[in-house]
Amino acid sequence: MDYELPEELRMLQETVRRFVDRELIPIERETMEGPKLKPEAQEMLEEKAKAVGLWLYDVPEEYGGQGLGLLARAVVWAELARTIALPSRNVNIFGPIVSPILYFLNDEQKQRYLYPVLEGKLRHCFAQTEPDAGGDPGNMRTTAVRDGDDYIINGTKRFITGAADADFAQVIAATDREKGSRGGISAFLVDMDTPGVNLLRAQETMMHDRPWEIAFEDVRVPSENMIGGEGDGFKFAQNWISAGRIRHGARGIGVIERCLELGASYAKQRSTFGSPLAERQSVQWMLVDSYADLHMLKLMVYAAASKHDDGGDIRYDSYIVKYFGDTKSFEAADKCMQIHGGLGLTTDLPIEHMWRDQRSFIITEGPTEILKMALSRHVLRQYGD
Ligand SMILES: Cc1cc2nc3c(=O)[nH]c(=O)nc-3n(C[C@H](O)[C@H](O)[C@H](O)COP(=O)(O)OP(=O)(O)OC[C@H]3O[C@@H](n4cnc5c(N)ncnc54)[C@H](O)[C@@H]3O)c2cc1C
Repeated sequence: MDYELPEELRMLQETVRRFVDRELIPIERETMEGPKLKPEAQEMLEEKAKAVGLWLYDVPEEYGGQGLGLLARAVVWAELARTIALPSRNVNIFGPIVSPILYFLNDEQKQRYLYPVLEGKLRHCFAQTEPDAGGDPGNMRTTAVRDGDDYIINGTKRFITGAADADFAQVIAATDREKGSRGGISAFLVDMDTPGVNLLRAQETMMHDRPWEIAFEDVRVPSENMIGGEGDGFKFAQNWISAGRIRHGARGIGVIERCLELGASYAKQRSTFGSPLAERQSVQWMLVDSYADLHMLKLMVYAAASKHDDGGDIRYDSYIVKYFGDTKSFEAADKCMQIHGGLGLTTDLPIEHMWRDQRSFIITEGPTEILKMALSRHVLRQYGD
């Protein structure tokens, strides 16, 4: 793996960096209202994203987007993560958010769901997690039971991002609880106004996010709303989450870089006991540790994304990228906070925001321990007699 990005990706990187430095960082404490961008910030930033040539950068070309590969998208994600101006989950200034699962729909489903999403007419959410099954979705209790030409869905989903704004949900439910993740989990397109779908409450979190709890009570869904075949749901959900893990690593790159920029600048300016902090070995080592982590993370993310773009299987690479990226970027934010002393705890700087977000990512979309559990099987298969 060549550490240098290809020329066209270096240009893309510079474009996004300029956009972040000029348009986002100067207003990064003014753009958000709760978990969303303020409407005026949304409108203004969409126009700027179009002007800079990033509109629909992650949508495949056959659907009218730019069809950037995973390495190119990772470059964009890394640069965007240098600012807290945008939501850390569900960034939508580059066009509508399109769950990659929707590209697997059949033609008739695409007409009803994918194209309206691409046109900005419909919004969706992804409902897998439950009160009793999060990191272990194979054990989910929400069931979809066949009844003639329909399925009847019953259960409760928790922590569902964007549920209140969604027109439909991609619901992951058990069609055979005994089989669980081995062919017993299916995926459905469920309109949010279907009788029996009830938003229960938004959960406050230590971040900006306000995910929802949703009850499904005897929700009747036609069988043509199943994505793929019966038992394919786990595969679709995991596929979506796998690609998302590279995003976590890329995000970590941007966070560590910003923390290095802030930490090094402050260490040079701030003197205690007659010397700048930058001359203290304990402070230097904090910066050096973050720098080394940044270097390793870049290599991991670029290698995994390139392998994916070349058609390789990155399941295990993506586990490593996610847990390393989330953990090391959280540590970098923590070190940056320490270097800044009391100032690091204030909302004058973006550090506390990054610290809270990065801490949350160590849990969401696959807690570190569960990723390591899956990796340990791979390691034990590969090494030893
Ligand atoms: C802000 C936010 C947004 C979210 N958005 C969505 C969404 O849109 N859609 C959706 O479906 N879900 C969403 N989630 C859910 C999220 O992905 C889950 O919270 C996450 O997967 C962990 O599941 P859990 O909370 O049930 O933890 P559990 O699976 O109960 O795990 C709890 C803890 O136990 C430990 N643990 C678990 N298993 C093991 C093991 N085998 N070995 C060792 N330790 C273990 C880990 O430390 C873990 O953190 C969201 C969550 C949040 C907070």
